[in-house]
Amino acid sequence: MRPINYTRAETLEAAVEAFSAAGADARYIAGGTTLYDLMKLGVEQPTHLIDLTGIAGLNAIDTDGDVLRFGALALMSDVAYTPAVHEGYPVLSESLLKAASQQLRNMATVGGNLLQRTRCMYFRNGAGSASTVGVYPCNRRQPGSGCAAIGGLDRGHAVLGASDACTAVSPGDWPVALMAMDAIIELFGPGGARSIPIAEFYRLPGETPHLQFNIDPAELITAITVSKTPAARLSTYHKIRDRESFAFALASAAVAVEMDGGTVRTARIALGGVATVPWRAKAAEETVVGKPLTPELALEAGQAAFRNARAGQHNALKMDLGLRVIADALMIAAERRA
Ligand SMILES: Cc1cc2nc3c(=O)[nH]c(=O)nc-3n(C[C@H](O)[C@H](O)[C@H](O)COP(=O)(O)OP(=O)(O)OC[C@H]3O[C@@H](n4cnc5c(N)ncnc54)[C@H](O)[C@@H]3O)c2cc1C
Repeated sequence: MRPINYTRAETLEAAVEAFSAAGADARYIAGGTTLYDLMKLGVEQPTHLIDLTGIAGLNAIDTDGDVLRFGALALMSDVAYTPAVHEGYPVLSESLLKAASQQLRNMATVGGNLLQRTRCMYFRNGAGSASTVGVYPCNRRQPGSGCAAIGGLDRGHAVLGASDACTAVSPGDWPVALMAMDAIIELFGPGGARSIPIAEFYRLPGETPHLQFNIDPAELITAITVSKTPAARLSTYHKIRDRESFAFALASAAVAVEMDGGTVRTARIALGGVATVPWRAKAAEETVVGKPLTPELALEAGQAAFRNARAGQHNALKMDLGLRVIADALMIAAERRA
């Protein structure tokens, strides 16, 4: 049994102070739906938990101003069912409603969702006990130990953004929708408040897959903002998974388009389930902009997104699946004009 200290912070300043005093093995905790899992698996072994749920106002959802603003502690289900989000930003709402189960969405926060770790089975199940180095090598869990997924069971792994050190998929759905909508992440840490575009929030694995996020460990997420845009009305989050009731994506696409009649004026396309980070598919966007949208063009856009993809042993299906997910999502989003 390992002792764990616990602090329930009531202000942002108190949370950061407690984290800084506890050191690098501290962890913030919100809904606990993934951190407790990882602690039971031995992947996370924090010495100090700093509970954020006592910080007043951190769960606020504000859709009245110039931007949509979601407090980091807002629950996934509350954000998904907020009328302005549900009706005006289907891509956001659907990405939340197609993630996890209703019970989990009623516990899990939109801030915690951004920081979940990969579901790679070698990462999650290979930690062994606290005193061993791990049953499976995993550079993400233990830097320099190797990667059991490369040459191993990699059906669920990334075909985009992988490196020789790691091919683990970024698991979240909500971050993919936020990537398509160019969301901004607001942070608070020892240096005060700052914000960062979601496109700069996630790190490609490269040689350092253990470093997943471009934030200081002591920084906490305070809110997520999305600019108000009519581009979101014609949008969707399309997700293919092994089990429809609840499962992580095999391939997913967040798509929002603006149309001039049948012609695409603007397109935002991001991919989930196929890449090591939430993946903006600029080549797919460029393929459709300024052209009449047809099923054939939508498939071309999908092909463009996977042109530089690289499969491992068992995951080539993700390229075929992914390009069709983009094509279907484009047609679904555009058809919302009616
Ligand atoms: C069975 C199951 C199925 C799931 N399926 C899906 C799915 O299909 N799609 C999907 O997207 N997700 C899925 N999830 C993941 C789920 O959405 C996440 O567990 C959840 O969103 C995490 O939120 P939380 O508030 O519980 O985070 P916590 O578990 O409390 O924390 C997660 C991480 O974020 C950190 N953290 C939390 N809040 C903050 C903050 N404000 N600032 C800084 N750090 C913070 C914690 O230190 C921790 O590292 C699934 C989970 C389970 C258990």
